[in-house]
Amino acid sequence: MIKIISKNEEKVSFVTDMSETLANAIRRSVLEIPILAIDEVEFFKNDSALYDEILAHRLGLIPLVTEKTFTEREKCSCKGKGCSKCSVDLKIKIKGPLTVYSKDLEGKAKVVYDKIPIVILEKGQELELVARARLGKGIEHSKFSPGLVYYRNLAKIIINKNCDNCKKCVEACPQKVLSVEGGKAELKEIYKCDLCEACVEVCKEHGKEAIKVEKDENIIFFIESWGQIKAEEIFIKSIGQLNENLKELSKKIK
Ligand code: SF4
Ligand code: SF4
Ligand SMILES: [Zn+2]
Repeated sequence: MIKIISKNEEKVSFVTDMSETLANAIRRSVLEIPILAIDEVEFFKNDSALYDEILAHRLGLIPLVTEKTFTEREKCSCKGKGCSKCSVDLKIKIKGPLTVYSKDLEGKAKVVYDKIPIVILEKGQELELVARARLGKGIEHSKFSPGLVYYRNLAKIIINKNCDNCKKCVEACPQKVLSVEGGKAELKEIYKCDLCEACVEVCKEHGKEAIKVEKDENIIFFIESWGQIKAEEIFIKSIGQLNENLKELSKKIK
């Protein structure tokens, strides 16, 4: 069962009855989706206050998109040397005073967000570099990850007969999703309860142990994209990667 809670290009969340083991395997497989990121930078001029290494690191974290399909470098006919089939060059040639932004990277790949600051250049300071992007996987470096994927169990709130209807738990709920009426608890937006147990704590302090938060067997899955691929694609591709790995494993076992 999959029930979509919200969906757009950047974020998807859904409730599912899949096992936690499978959910975790899908979550981990996200780091095996090939993603484009800057991996080598050649500096010709860097008069800025930041070292070359720091600038290279900042450039690596800028999400990129491209219409062209690239081959993973280790599978490319260039045997890992780097060619137009497996890598793309982006350039910056700029002079201060100004702030250098991600949009100043020019080449055959586009930055997802224009306004990521890279470095400030004072009057007369220059920056000139060529950055080479390639496909990589998040297991190698997190700059190659397409987004954030996480899940948690839905909550079940149980109230026993000790409840005196003081509503202290309702006030204590940081998500403001809990309501208690006539000895019964209800979660107004069940998806927002993050099982923090603030309600349980406050009830204990009040001298009662009337409320319990338990994990429901269903889980809520969240996918947030950094922009290189759509959130929905992250889910589909990670299942594809998981499948590949399982096929490989089954071949080896045979
Ligand atoms: S704090 Fe405890 S006693 Fe008070 S309403 Fe909540 S569950 Fe009932
Ligand atoms: S566990 Fe936390 S979020 Fe959920 S109802 Fe209790 S206080 Fe609110
Ligand atoms: Zn190549």
